[in-house]
Amino acid sequence: MTTSSPRSRLIVVVAVCHLCGDPAPGDNRPPVILRPGLGGPRPVRLCARCRSIRPGRDRGELVPDDETWAFLERETTALGQDYESGRWLPWRDELHWAQNLRATTWTQSAVEHALRDAGPHVSTGRLVHVVEPLPGLLALVDDGDPALRTLRRFLDNLTAGPA
Ligand SMILES: [Zn+2]
Repeated sequence: MTTSSPRSRLIVVVAVCHLCGDPAPGDNRPPVILRPGLGGPRPVRLCARCRSIRPGRDRGELVPDDETWAFLERETTALGQDYESGRWLPWRDELHWAQNLRATTWTQSAVEHALRDAGPHVSTGRLVHVVEPLPGLLALVDDGDPALRTLRRFLDNLTAGPA
């Protein structure tokens, strides 16, 4: 008797990073624990990048700031791509605001201040929306933290062009 293994039975499960959705292959490191508001704690996988630069990287569990950081990364990357492709162009006011923010030492109060002072025009733009989670993260990480590198690079890129 021969046994056959129908192709339809073959299911490839690709584990993805809980924070960014990139592939997160299994390894021998201990899992990171997620404690959702509802339901019990459960282990989740993270990609190597998120594991090494998330704000709560010193802890064995995910902290709310890790989710906030993942949101900041997603939004910054999306806006950066739209800028590169020409789908989004900053207003002159926004560019000026970005230049000031880039030149500021990022502390929680300094960035909160910058957001408050953005003015009605800049406040409605996409750039402010991207930066909004930053003060919360600065409670956990400082100015030069690798977690903020994507936003830094984006602002560098944005303000490097001809004004
Ligand atoms: Zn990830």
